[in-house]
Amino acid sequence: MTHPGARFRDPALVAQLADRLRAATPDEPLRLMHVCGTHENAIARNGLRSLLPGAVEVIAGPGCPVCVCPPADIDLAARLALDHGAGVATVGDMMRVPGRVSLTEARTRGGDVRVVDGAAGAVRWAREEPEREVVLFAVGFETTACTTAAAVLAEPPPNLSFLLSHRLIPPALSALLTMDDLRIDGFLMPGHVLTVAGTEDYTPLAVASGRPMVVAGFEPVDVMLGLARLVELAGEGRGEVANAYPRAVRSGGNAKALAMMDRAFQAVDARWRGLGEIPGSGLALQPELSSLDACQRFGVEPDPDLPDSLPGCSCGDVMAGRLDPTECPLFGESCTPEAPRGPCMVSFEGTCRNRYQYREG
Ligand code: SF4
Repeated sequence: MTHPGARFRDPALVAQLADRLRAATPDEPLRLMHVCGTHENAIARNGLRSLLPGAVEVIAGPGCPVCVCPPADIDLAARLALDHGAGVATVGDMMRVPGRVSLTEARTRGGDVRVVDGAAGAVRWAREEPEREVVLFAVGFETTACTTAAAVLAEPPPNLSFLLSHRLIPPALSALLTMDDLRIDGFLMPGHVLTVAGTEDYTPLAVASGRPMVVAGFEPVDVMLGLARLVELAGEGRGEVANAYPRAVRSGGNAKALAMMDRAFQAVDARWRGLGEIPGSGLALQPELSSLDACQRFGVEPDPDLPDSLPGCSCGDVMAGRLDPTECPLFGESCTPEAPRGPCMVSFEGTCRNRYQYREG
């Protein structure tokens, strides 16, 4: 029996959609951005850029959760493990992201840093070791922020606190659209993020900027359908939101998840690696939940003097779409997946890692 998902990987359908995209391509070049590491992985792994006409360029934006996490937050997590004896729970990709001290280095130096399966894993760890303080170093966009919210609201063990480094996509898009040196003609939107957040928040931004935004899933057919629709809308100059992933995304999103996020968090200004501070793009605990805040519990703050970029690494420019990974002088030379010099080479969602792993020729 054919797997039900096989139709979303059907090469004939992908070819049809590539034809549709080519037919809609205007004479003027189009520069389209996705803001999703999973999209970059799908595009690179399936060689989808090779199906695009020369006039359509698809660039990767700040869509890799561990890549956008600023060095100051990683430094803070490492200090909690090394200087305060906390057990730090995090996701696997975060371990090797370089910083003043990476979390792998913190573990080598004796810090108890463990990879857990999300917020539930941190809760389990805290319950199993009630005598020790456990900190969940929580990163990711709306998709994972709602799972952190669920843990915050579910009466977590008293020895668990939260170091929040979640980031929100809409403020990042607003910031990108105001960068004078950056031309973006439309956005391919991440289907998993909008499954939680819905499309409604994006409509004012699409209308005000005059740039189309098309929600897409992650199989080759999903991505090509999203890109074809995006080229059609961009070619017609229509600033609107379209949903090319209706089997998962609704306009209002996941109401239960959004309600939990509202109860747990408030939006705050936040730093992004390489992009600086973006208003309203981060999350902090609501004031009545501040006893769960790891910074408050341990009396620590991120080092404001730690730069948002590492010396020699151009990840900020890569994530803003200013620089192709291959234009970084370190790419494939002193920066490889085995010895990454920047976060974009660490994660499976990182632009440099994907470009390196699936490079052609
Ligand atoms: Fe950063 Fe390495 Fe990418 Fe250069 S190749 S931008 S150093 S991750």
